[in-house]
This record gives sequence, C-alpha cells and structure tokens, in this order.
Amino acid sequence: MSVHVHVRLNDGYAVTEDGQLLERSSCHCGASWETTYQVDEGEPESI
Ligand SMILES: [Zn+2]
Repeated sequence: MSVHVHVRLNDGYAVTEDGQLLERSSCHCGASWETTYQVDEGEPESI
C-alpha cells in the first residue's frame, strides 16, 4: 500500500497575541498544521 505523504498547502498567516507569526497550512486529506515563528527582533514583512 502506498504511504500518504502530506502536502502542506499554505492557508495563510496570522499574528498571535504574543506577537508571533502563525503560519497555517493543511493537506488535502484534512490534516492541518499551525507553525509559529518567534519574531523577537525587527518587524515582520508586511503581508
Ligand atoms: Zn495528507
């Protein structure tokens, strides 16, 4: 049987209350991820 390999499709970005950059992504199978990036220095690029 083939093994499903998740494909991360970008669902957009958001900023958490802590000022972290939150990246949402999901696979067509329904799985989803939320990855946060610590933004301590500088300002994130405007989205
Ligand atoms: Zn998947």
